Amino acid sequence: MPVFRKVLIANRGEIAVRIARTLREMGIGVVAVYAEPDATALHVIHADEAVPIGGREPATSYLDIDRILWAARKSGAEAIHPGYGFLAENAEFARRVQEAGLVFIGPTPEAMEALGDKVQARRIARKAGVPVVPGTLEGLRSPEEGLRLAREIGFPVLLKAARGGGGKGMRVVRRPEDFAEAFRLASQEAASAFGDPTLFLEKYIEHPRHVEIQVLGDHHGGVIHLYERECSMQRRHQKIIEETPSPAIDEPTRRAMGEAAVALAREAGYTNAGTVEFMVDPEGRFYFLEVNTRLQVEHPITELTVGMDLVREQVRIASGARLSLAQGEVRKSGHAIEARVYAEDPQNRFLPSPGRIHFLLEPGGPGIRVDSGVYPGYEIPVYYDPLIAKVIAYGRDREEARRRLVRALREYRIFGPVTNLLFLIDLLESPAFVEGSYDTWTVEAEEWEAPPPEESLAILGALGGAEPERGEEDRHPAALRESAWKRLGRLMAMRGSFRP
Ligand code: ADP
Ligand code: ADP
Ligand code: MG
Repeated sequence: MPVFRKVLIANRGEIAVRIARTLREMGIGVVAVYAEPDATALHVIHADEAVPIGGREPATSYLDIDRILWAARKSGAEAIHPGYGFLAENAEFARRVQEAGLVFIGPTPEAMEALGDKVQARRIARKAGVPVVPGTLEGLRSPEEGLRLAREIGFPVLLKAARGGGGKGMRVVRRPEDFAEAFRLASQEAASAFGDPTLFLEKYIEHPRHVEIQVLGDHHGGVIHLYERECSMQRRHQKIIEETPSPAIDEPTRRAMGEAAVALAREAGYTNAGTVEFMVDPEGRFYFLEVNTRLQVEHPITELTVGMDLVREQVRIASGARLSLAQGEVRKSGHAIEARVYAEDPQNRFLPSPGRIHFLLEPGGPGIRVDSGVYPGYEIPVYYDPLIAKVIAYGRDREEARRRLVRALREYRIFGPVTNLLFLIDLLESPAFVEGSYDTWTVEAEEWEAPPPEESLAILGALGGAEPERGEEDRHPAALRESAWKRLGRLMAMRGSFRP
């Protein structure tokens, strides 16, 4: 007997497809929900039944708790998997699911509430003996108090929204005289974006690395970690490429971070899958950042290196089962790297580029996994996150995984939407990535140095590629130096070999 007969997936895109696959393997019926523009989406095709829940605005569909609970009742689902984004970190949703007599496949509402507030999470970390980024352990009551504390911490500081997420709601303040204005703007932004103006302060760490630990906890007191993911390849505080193991930490640090994450999860009474994020400074010291109380976008690199299915673990844990293995039984081997393929235009300030997919050829072959949310003929809607697929490479060692991923991204052919594929390849081939010496500043610190001559821009334009605009927002990494030429060559080769 499967642990549940039917599970509803309250999400869309690649993650809904990925969850459906595991449910199928477990013999569990898959219920999809969809908004009006998603009637023909891949996650609907992969489901046993699909329930329309509303219009194109997320607020009237994927974020509408009443509609989703209605769909669960109507379909007879026993549990709900929230995926990531949308309602995944919404404690009220988790509580409403429970109150409806259903199982929420995730942590308890109490743990989500405690950790969803970054200030409270910092206090929990402190209590668990985990180092936190130097800063405040209370919300700031006024700009004057903030400035006083900022002087104590030492400039530069980072003003952060207590309820922030998705790389938003952060403001670096380098000088005391800029503090009051930054405070005003940041609390306004926090109020409008997260419904809570509360701000706190952290020391702004220069050239940090972002390294996070995957944890799993069951309802019987079992908590384990599944090692780290290195996520420092970021643009605007958003991850682009992730890998494991991290090339930046040594064995004692790895062990200490794993133990810290488990201690924190225990302190918070954490159950199900979660991620404890840390900053690592250039001296190799690590500091707690926040907990993501859900499945992470980059979870596949962990799956490939520990040989586990995290969604299966999530479902088992939610059904009351014990963890399928103890810490000492976790075997990690090889190296995995993930690249996020977005329908966005690196030549045009990374603006989303939705639209119909006229032709699609996804990569495959040794060591390649593609978690995709699209298919040929599908029209990417403008209303949602433009992530179209994740390409994940596994290798016995880092260089094998890296070469595989580059090879796979070169195999990836898509006509219609503009994608960041060539940008990803350039990043993977950049000296900083090849050496493993990058940090969270690497992608943005470098500038576009060799713009292509007018003539080639005209060719790019004729081929349908947008002309690169130069400006403050249009900075490209060192990886992209001279690569406008490379890009043009590849684009022409791609257009030449496959005509839709
Ligand atoms: P991760 O570390 O898992 O990448 P992120 O903070 O980047 O975490 O968020 C996870 C994903 O969910 C991202 O792709 C982000 O764009 C998406 N996301 C976050 N919030 C929402 C939301 N409210 N609606 C839709 N997608 C969201
Ligand atoms: P979110 O909830 O938006 O994911 P995080 O607190 O996890 O916010 O931070 C996201 C990213 O912002 C980090 O990966 C890092 O690049 C940067 N960042 C956050 N805090 C600091 C800090 N104190 N110093 C330097 N960079 C930081
Ligand atoms: Mg984060």
